[in-house]
Amino acid sequence: MDEVLAGHVEPFLEFHRQVYGLRVERSRIVNYLLSDFLGISSDEMRKRFQAFYDSEELEQVVPLPGALKETSALSDKYEFVVITSRPTHWEPKTVAWLRNYFPTFEGPHFAQNGHSFKGGNKKTKLEWCRDLGVEVMVEDNHAYLAGCTDAGVRGVLIDCPWNQEPLPEGVARVWLGRCCKTHSFKRQLPLRTK
Ligand SMILES: [Mg+2]
Repeated sequence: MDEVLAGHVEPFLEFHRQVYGLRVERSRIVNYLLSDFLGISSDEMRKRFQAFYDSEELEQVVPLPGALKETSALSDKYEFVVITSRPTHWEPKTVAWLRNYFPTFEGPHFAQNGHSFKGGNKKTKLEWCRDLGVEVMVEDNHAYLAGCTDAGVRGVLIDCPWNQEPLPEGVARVWLGRCCKTHSFKRQLPLRTK
């Protein structure tokens, strides 16, 4: 969902600048684990994400450029299901956001997350894909695509500064111009053919 459908990073970084006084450029974030990049604990990172979630600034999270148009263009052939690694206690606003911007999409399904949030659903994104019959998973986190071939899922990794590691098997990297700022691809949502 985030950085595939929803432009989450830029509003968070602006919130972070205003509240914590540290300006971070998106293009310099070379680690998906923002806590490691910032040199802070995962607990502190979780608090900062939670503060953002609780703030009015969350309303600045809107669909990434092209997300609405491109998914609409594919809707004759595919149905879309959203699987997110957001923490489960973010469900209310996450559901509201999806219903508002992508009302025909299935989900969101909450998957295990690999960053600072613990607990919640233990099912991985790939396990969700397998169980839901997803054919293609579009992601910005290479780690969530590891093992996709074994799960029978094709992977698409949207090129971002934080995912420059070697590709897992069965994954294609796509470049979308100034990725996640101006991209015109359909984003992270897994696709299922109708
Ligand atoms: Mg993401």
